[in-house]
Amino acid sequence: MHSLTDNNQRLTRAEGIKLMQETPLGQLMRRAHEVRMKRHPKARVTYVCDTNPNYTNVCATRCHFCAFWRAEESRDAYTLSSTQLAEQVSRAADAGATTVLMQGGHNPKLKLADWLIYIRAIQTAVQNIHIHPFGPPEIAFMAENEATSTKIILQQLWDIGIRTMPGGGAEVLTDRVRNAIAPKKCSAHTWLEIMSQAHKIGFKTTATLMYGHVETPEDIIDHLLALRELQDKTGGFQSFVPWSFKPGKTPLGRKIEQTASPQMYLRIISVARLMLDNFSHIQSSWFSEERQAGQLGLLAGADDFGGLLIEENVLETADHSPTISIQDLEQDIRSMGFEPARRDSYYRYIG
Ligand code: SF4
Repeated sequence: MHSLTDNNQRLTRAEGIKLMQETPLGQLMRRAHEVRMKRHPKARVTYVCDTNPNYTNVCATRCHFCAFWRAEESRDAYTLSSTQLAEQVSRAADAGATTVLMQGGHNPKLKLADWLIYIRAIQTAVQNIHIHPFGPPEIAFMAENEATSTKIILQQLWDIGIRTMPGGGAEVLTDRVRNAIAPKKCSAHTWLEIMSQAHKIGFKTTATLMYGHVETPEDIIDHLLALRELQDKTGGFQSFVPWSFKPGKTPLGRKIEQTASPQMYLRIISVARLMLDNFSHIQSSWFSEERQAGQLGLLAGADDFGGLLIEENVLETADHSPTISIQDLEQDIRSMGFEPARRDSYYRYIG
């Protein structure tokens, strides 16, 4: 299903930039909501009960926007043992988590064998939890650390039973922006290439965007176009998940005068729904912006409200740590006129 322009053609780069810069927000939200209701006619909004443990905060990549990473010699550096990780996941599963989104710093001491041990430990400790690990920058780092190819890393993860992966670390997929905010992280090309390889093996993934720092509207549209182009080829992206940069305690935060507004969040969700005509799901999260902005995103083209996030550390270190009960999350969805529905990591409804 392709998106709207008045003559029903795909939106072009120039049209996308115009939507980012000129179209009144109310008009944009209405258009995006219309497209969302055509694609998902039921007034239903999904969410997932997940947990987000970070197996290490030691990271050699040291992105300027990140408050989470620590040097190996730092007093509060940590690397979980497989037992500790499995215990954390087990506790989260007891609290209702059905998915574990597992990511960590780029720790040169960890090898692929350690990743596989983590996965096996979770699989043994908790039979019915879906493991959703390692974004493309982690895969790129591990391939370098192991002096092997990203394809081999991906294949090993597939062979151990992993079927979905998070689309984290996309930030903004232009090298100008990446060089400014995360110069040691994998390039835009590499991020897309790893996603392409993963999709070809059979993984389903998400795609993300972190905006609100040095990017321009053109960068955001180029990011969306790169995702749309890859999705045309592979069809492996299940959803698009944007969030804004959280400046607290980050080196980049000291240089940014203004943080992104809730209105910008709504604009990006709307533009994403219109540009990403080959994506089924767009997320507006109760967590990543103000809770009310997350709710309004449900009227701007989003059909998913994100995860319950039983545990989250990365944004907590940047002073962003809201929590929510399942009852309040469902009430937030209902109060916008939608029926809440729990989902799994394939976006299938679960009871
Ligand atoms: S965002 Fe990830 S890769 Fe970048 S410094 Fe933080 S932990 Fe490391």
